[in-house]
Amino acid sequence: MNTVRDVDPTDNVMLVEAGATLQSIQAAAEEAGRLFPLSLASEGTCQIGGNLATNAGGVNVLRYGSTRALCLGVEAVLPNGNILNNLSRLRKDNTGYDLRDLLIGSEGTLGVITAATLALSARPADVGTALFTVRDPAAALDLLTLARSIAGDGISAFELIHGVGLDFVAETIPEARQPFSERPEWAVLVEVGLPDAVSAEQCLTDLFEQGLGAGLTDDGVIAQSDGQRAEFWTLREQIPEANKRIGAIVSHDIALPLGQLADFIPRGMARIAEIGPFRVNCFGHLGDGNLHYNVFPPLGKPPGAFAADKDRIERAVHDLVRDMGGSFSAEHGVGRFKTHELDRYGDPVKISTMRTLKSALDPHGIMNPGALFS
Ligand SMILES: Cc1cc2nc3c(=O)[nH]c(=O)nc-3n(C[C@H](O)[C@H](O)[C@H](O)COP(=O)(O)OP(=O)(O)OC[C@H]3O[C@@H](n4cnc5c(N)ncnc54)[C@H](O)[C@@H]3O)c2cc1C
Repeated sequence: MNTVRDVDPTDNVMLVEAGATLQSIQAAAEEAGRLFPLSLASEGTCQIGGNLATNAGGVNVLRYGSTRALCLGVEAVLPNGNILNNLSRLRKDNTGYDLRDLLIGSEGTLGVITAATLALSARPADVGTALFTVRDPAAALDLLTLARSIAGDGISAFELIHGVGLDFVAETIPEARQPFSERPEWAVLVEVGLPDAVSAEQCLTDLFEQGLGAGLTDDGVIAQSDGQRAEFWTLREQIPEANKRIGAIVSHDIALPLGQLADFIPRGMARIAEIGPFRVNCFGHLGDGNLHYNVFPPLGKPPGAFAADKDRIERAVHDLVRDMGGSFSAEHGVGRFKTHELDRYGDPVKISTMRTLKSALDPHGIMNPGALFS
């Protein structure tokens, strides 16, 4: 089940089978002159069924929303063997409970998605990408506000990069090209996609000049070619790879309200410093309020030596996230590893309603047992 069955530029919809890889779906949309904007590092191998089941996020959520926002309908086999036929092409359909939204993000616990209808977007005529240094996360957020006033909805990605992440890349992937001669403490990767007659390069130049004037940035590189754009994204994608090579004690995928984010980062680091002399690599989808807040051993020490600290670190970070109105899982879901976190931080009425739905649809617990529920 890996076929793209239809791409319809009039409906602005494509119909795909669940086993189609994300990359093949992006390519089919491009062939029809349209854009399917979901984009993540695993796009060459992950399948749209998995993207839907995990409500995957990725780098373009800021502009286009997560997978949920890109899906109009699903076909699924329910635990009792019935087939839900809901391959809707409609933008408006107010006919009771939304079973599509129930299946999206259900992590395979309510049924097997077999096909989906996906919403397409216009391809931006001009795309520009830049890396800017920023003083701190608060300056990065101010730069995002400035970018919004210049480019409006044209900002498709706004990624925070930490100097610690650049150090990890330099240490573990020495052939990687570093864009700044002096390693900054913080930087952002900004991408804009604009309609015809609006220059992406001019927009990024305006952002840099105004950001410089406001004291938010003091250095930047605007990609001059598709090759250079790809290089910037490669650097961003090398950060998780470098993290893997260094070896985290514990990784967090957290979401916070944008207004809390700049305050959260140093407060979290202070709490972690009380536990031990750990290194924190804090990076991620700043525009979505989604941080990958990963904690590493001191230089030269293996992560295994600090296994006993893992729970304390996780508790310190997730407690602070809860206190500041955030979520312990922004885009990586609950799976089996985080069921205890859902029990601890989830709203009890939400969890009991989820259990009621699970036992109504899957009374024998045959769908992905162990996921979501402890
Ligand atoms: C290198 C890398 C980078 C990533 N980057 C991001 C990122 O930036 N943002 C993000 O959100 N995620 C990211 N992810 C995780 C991402 O969510 C998954 O890679 C992807 O969305 C899941 O698709 P998959 O086909 O790999 O699913 P799998 O891993 O095979 O399955 C994921 C879950 O979905 C269920 N499932 C799979 N198919 C179906 C189906 N047809 N019907 C019902 N349930 C199903 C499975 O049971 C499982 O619980 C990344 C992963 C990797 C490896």
